[in-house]
Amino acid sequence: MPGFELFGDEERKEVNEVLETGILMRYGFDGPRKGIWKAKELEKAITETFGCKYAQLTSSGTTALTTAMAALGIGFGDEVIMPAFTFVASFEAVLSVGAVPVLVDIDETLTLNPDAVRNAITPKTKCIMPVHMCGSMANLDALAAICKEHNLLLLEDACQSIGANYKGKALGTIGHAGTFSFDFVKMITCAEGGVVMTNDKDVYIKSDGYTDHGHDHLGADRGADLHPFIGYNSRISELHAAVGLAQIRKLDRFLELQKKNNKALRAYLEQIPEISFRVVPEGGEDSCSFLSWFLPSAALTQAVVAEMKAQGILAGNFYWFANNWHYITNWDHLKNASSLNRLNQEQEAALLRLKTTSFSASDAIMSRCISTSISLVWTEDQIKEKGEKMAACIRKVLG
Ligand SMILES: *Cc1c(COP(=O)(O)O)cnc(C)c1O
Repeated sequence: MPGFELFGDEERKEVNEVLETGILMRYGFDGPRKGIWKAKELEKAITETFGCKYAQLTSSGTTALTTAMAALGIGFGDEVIMPAFTFVASFEAVLSVGAVPVLVDIDETLTLNPDAVRNAITPKTKCIMPVHMCGSMANLDALAAICKEHNLLLLEDACQSIGANYKGKALGTIGHAGTFSFDFVKMITCAEGGVVMTNDKDVYIKSDGYTDHGHDHLGADRGADLHPFIGYNSRISELHAAVGLAQIRKLDRFLELQKKNNKALRAYLEQIPEISFRVVPEGGEDSCSFLSWFLPSAALTQAVVAEMKAQGILAGNFYWFANNWHYITNWDHLKNASSLNRLNQEQEAALLRLKTTSFSASDAIMSRCISTSISLVWTEDQIKEKGEKMAACIRKVLG
């Protein structure tokens, strides 16, 4: 998963070019910046690497999501269907544009179950937001068909799945819009950053203005720009974009290492018949940032987690079911609508209803799932040691 593991001279060189001019902002200062436009260059590299028409960089993956939602016209009175297994940022973004997050069950793809999505559609539903968790993806054909049938928007939260593909297309470029995060632990990092990707010029132009106080960016004089709508500030800086530029050039290498290491570790777990693996939809190509695997029962999974902890080999293995940031069970702040400022009434009512909503279908999957994060810098010997220790630990628990 993390590009920061291979941070090096390439990133330093790009950042130094910005430091030499001292123009740390992405807009304006055309003379003093001496032709250095890192954010623009990174946006171009993103469109070329992932095959979308437009890319708008932002300050984070979270602001990429809010920007995409605003540009798609999602706001007060709208419902956004999203999975109960994600990172908190997904519902934060929905709430911050004034819309209602409708959390539904996942399946063994570890993201939206299309039947659960269908059951959650109401006259207020405006958007389906699959979250492509842990490097792999939702069944996008099934979700796109539902969107078409009900005239809904498809917004891909691909923040965690940079480099994964579905039927030959990059995740994040398939829906009406899609987002990546470039925070410090993502596949490629800017330290902090994100991007909205789209093939729709109107969505792009709105994203461009929204992230910069509504500037239309049409003239040479920034101060004379017009503001056709209200925007906010979620600009990326040139320093952050410079880091991302060096990272995106190394993406192929990151993916190659990740796939190799994932496959090598998986071979150890495949020898245990009780273990099954996350389902990748047909036509999908996993980025391999995690190896996600299932045990036959919640009790066995919890025993394996406890045994791995006792043996000091739990680091890098995530039991999301008990995690505070990724799964509905521990999101008390959400279920209690604990907001610092007043939410709108529809939001508050929907959040309080989550307290009594059952996610038993998701529980049955998440309680048996462990995700092992894949390092880019593991040696063959380290993978062998890790694989053997994990397999021995699991076999001990299975008895
Ligand atoms: C990381 C992440 C985000 C948000 O990204 P930040 O850049 O940290 O704001 C959103 N969704 C998912 C699924 C993520 O993993």
